Amino acid sequence: MTQHCDVLLRGGVVVTMDDARRVIEHGAVAVRGNRIAAVGTQAELSGWQADRTIDCSGQVVIPGLVDSHNHLFQVAGRGLGDGMALWQWLSEFMLPLAAGIRPEEAVAAVRVGALEALSSGTTTIIDNHYAPNDAATTLQVAAALHDMGLRGAIALGVFGPFTDIARDNQLSPLLFQNSTRHEIDSMRECLTEWRSDRVQIWPSPINVIYNDQDLVRGLVELADEFNVRWQTHCSEALVDPEIYLQAYGLRPFIWMEKERLLSPHASFAHAIWLDDAEIERIGGRQCGIAHNPMSNEYLASGAMRLRDARKAGATIGMGADGAAGHLMDMFQIMRQMVYVQRLHTLDPEATFAEEAFELATRGGAQLAGIDAGCLEAGKLADIAVVSLRGAHMAPCFNPVANLVYCASGRDVTLTMVDGRVVYENGRATLVDHEEIVRKAHEHCNAVIKRLNIPTRRGQAALPQ
Ligand SMILES: [Zn+2]
Repeated sequence: MTQHCDVLLRGGVVVTMDDARRVIEHGAVAVRGNRIAAVGTQAELSGWQADRTIDCSGQVVIPGLVDSHNHLFQVAGRGLGDGMALWQWLSEFMLPLAAGIRPEEAVAAVRVGALEALSSGTTTIIDNHYAPNDAATTLQVAAALHDMGLRGAIALGVFGPFTDIARDNQLSPLLFQNSTRHEIDSMRECLTEWRSDRVQIWPSPINVIYNDQDLVRGLVELADEFNVRWQTHCSEALVDPEIYLQAYGLRPFIWMEKERLLSPHASFAHAIWLDDAEIERIGGRQCGIAHNPMSNEYLASGAMRLRDARKAGATIGMGADGAAGHLMDMFQIMRQMVYVQRLHTLDPEATFAEEAFELATRGGAQLAGIDAGCLEAGKLADIAVVSLRGAHMAPCFNPVANLVYCASGRDVTLTMVDGRVVYENGRATLVDHEEIVRKAHEHCNAVIKRLNIPTRRGQAALPQ
């Protein structure tokens, strides 16, 4: 019987990530509208007629990768701010950049960052955008992701009133200018104005440690009111829970549990420094953790308790967390997740390539609340195609191991989001690829120069 679909991806190795974790040699995926219509062997799908058939032989067809936590505007400082731990990195580099960047510069950086992600097989991004975070710029950032064809959310980062913790740790007061009321009203305006079937806006108290407690509560209430998820940073640096404990008399996740803020709609970037009671609360409430191994290595922040958090019931996704010292390439991030866990535990069985791939697909989709993350009939058609032709991919006994240990985003030949091809043959299909790169150079150079951010710190700071 002949059946019709819009696109047929035929001839590749299909890594389904379905419940049985089927890997289909000589497989095929049929896409109709924005959903997957069928997955099977090429022979099983031989009766399908497609408007467009894409030959995927010599390639792997995978679920699109989910970047659970990013700050695309930070691309403006790519390669800068080297050699600092979190609080110094924030106070001396990132927050001054955030306070000084102009809307058109931030949007140019967001666009090139999103383009990099799209070119690397990422189909969904949770972009924790906080500079500039006024409603007008936020809506432009959301539109940038939408227009490029991506799926995801702008987790709109909010600073609110200047807290004692922020002041004591030398964070720039320039970012903490608005009252809780103003921040809640501005967030409400964004949530009310923005309309898209693919890109949402989520409230994001920027960091539970240095945000005002009323602000955190108010933003979570707003997320509930609009039935969207929310994301924040918490316990990224070793000192964070200690700082919080000293200021408020309890650890941050214990406070959130007490306030009934923990739920499957909450996700926490990092959540590295957790005690057993906090792990139990996060797991028990099935919260999400956005794990950012490359950022954690770069800032020397620490290794999260992956096994304990998963065992307790937390949903784990993986993220790039900006681009200051690394690429926004989920393949590299998956690989680093394995290496960090093994090095930290001194246990080669602490995790495997299969788990890294699962967190970047199914885990991220669950954290984001989207019906994707695996290639199965009925799921959203978010798909990437990865070439096996490079010398670094030969031979290929276990496609998932090759994807995690050997592949890079540059091996991606096609990215599909919502049933639409958004990247192919080295270029984005819906936007002007070269123009986005050209504008990023121009605007990012302007902001770094104007703010006098050092571009050669490493040379001067090199240990003798
Ligand atoms: Zn972050």
